[in-house]
Amino acid sequence: MHEATKAPKISFFDYIVIGGGTAGIPLATTLSAKYSVLLLERGGSPYGNANITSQLNFGNNFADTSPDSPSQIFTTEGVINTRARVLGGGTYINAGFYSRGEAQFNKEARLMDENLVQESYKWTERVMVFEPVVQEWPSAVRAALLEAGVTPDNGFTYDHIIGTKVSGKSRPMAYGVVFEDSLGNKHRAYLKGGKKDEIILSAGALGSPQLLMLSGIGPRKQLDALKIKVVLEQPFIGQGMADNPLNAVFIPAPVAVNPSGVQIVGITWFGSYIEEAGGFSFIFTPSPNYQGFSPQKINGPLSMGELKIENRNPADTPSVTFNYFKEPEDLRKCVKGVATILKAIESKAFSNYKFANMTVQEILDINMRLPGNDLVRSNTSLSLEQYCKDTVRTMWHYHGGCHIDKVIDHEYKVFGVDGLRVIDGSTILNSPGTNPQASVLMLGRYMGVTILGQRIACDKSR
Ligand SMILES: Cc1cc2nc3c(=O)[nH]c(=O)nc-3n(C[C@H](O)[C@H](O)[C@H](O)COP(=O)(O)OP(=O)(O)OC[C@H]3O[C@@H](n4cnc5c(N)ncnc54)[C@H](O)[C@@H]3O)c2cc1C
Repeated sequence: MHEATKAPKISFFDYIVIGGGTAGIPLATTLSAKYSVLLLERGGSPYGNANITSQLNFGNNFADTSPDSPSQIFTTEGVINTRARVLGGGTYINAGFYSRGEAQFNKEARLMDENLVQESYKWTERVMVFEPVVQEWPSAVRAALLEAGVTPDNGFTYDHIIGTKVSGKSRPMAYGVVFEDSLGNKHRAYLKGGKKDEIILSAGALGSPQLLMLSGIGPRKQLDALKIKVVLEQPFIGQGMADNPLNAVFIPAPVAVNPSGVQIVGITWFGSYIEEAGGFSFIFTPSPNYQGFSPQKINGPLSMGELKIENRNPADTPSVTFNYFKEPEDLRKCVKGVATILKAIESKAFSNYKFANMTVQEILDINMRLPGNDLVRSNTSLSLEQYCKDTVRTMWHYHGGCHIDKVIDHEYKVFGVDGLRVIDGSTILNSPGTNPQASVLMLGRYMGVTILGQRIACDKSR
């Protein structure tokens, strides 16, 4: 790990990976076993930051709004959201719940080598995943979910511009990047010129589409409006942005609940995941009374929006819409999910954690008044549909913007440009697993092994 201020003015590599996050790190680590790799990360070091190294401090980063914060806050459709800005990316600011993706994800992501999928999961898990001892509150939630008819599952806790030039076939080709250090000095890094040298974007669902557009690859109207020279017109970049809506029920508890992090996720048959998060009250106003937190997110989702760049500054978060609950099916899943949480609250297994005389309507009404998004809301929950719409938050599982078959091919190569791939959450169609980081880590390793294998084979055949 080196400060960019110490980088040479000009340097040369076999691979340049942009974004040292969940996909970028396993990818760059794998490629660097045999080739020279420059991994460019805009954020600082995570080491020594107790808000990152202790799971119980999850959420403290959100309060740090400095330009150096590992968490860059943004608001869209009234929902307060965040994106990683630190070496390690989302894995370092997230809640740490680890859940492998389902077979459908591998199919959608065109990861056809099942053995390599399994090996890639194991490679990550050996170093960063462990099974927690399930604590008292999560155990009660598990029993309550079982009573409510849900299957509970223990997860495991635990100014860049791409230079493009036109090649002989008049196709643009990525060949280098310009990056700026913290003192404002510009540096240039180029590919060495080998036939298989590549620039790989792993800057996340917001960063990768943004950087493509800033590099002149994207919808012409947007590029023209910001006077960005069009290298390749690509209308699909920034399309298909989705964020799984989260709706939580904070449950006032008559007994103290030890902070447990997320240890249990209930998988329903109707496409809603119900998590427990004991002791996460600090996300909102700390109050000893609001100790149990039961968020639920829907799978998919079907509702999608778009990402647009509003200026030429890569440090700014682009404008993004997710159109939460635009598709009626998403709302139906949410309503069923909240109804299931209410059933679990009223179960025998949960009775110690709920005030006996408090009705579920009262619990919902308390939740209507809690902060968490900027949406206009009433003081009472008139229906579960309204509860879902008014209390919508994010679980930070947003994805999309560079979909397979639209922006990239089945090898994650950007259509119409040589020497350029995108490998990260921006390529995802449906959020995998109950939580996505396991699949994104696996994707980084899987693609690293694949690219490495193809290049070694090519080098040998010469
Ligand atoms: C608060 C929070 C909680 C979450 N909780 C969980 C959880 O418990 N379990 C789970 O499975 N998932 C969780 N997630 C989701 C998961 O972390 C993300 O889906 C995943 O990390 C996305 O990986 P990625 O590689 O696409 O992007 P990231 O991991 O975000 O990596 C992108 C990297 O690119 C860098 N970057 C961006 N732009 C540039 C640029 N211009 N130049 C250089 N670098 C750049 C960023 O700084 C970042 O480090 C959570 C996410 C958040 C934000």
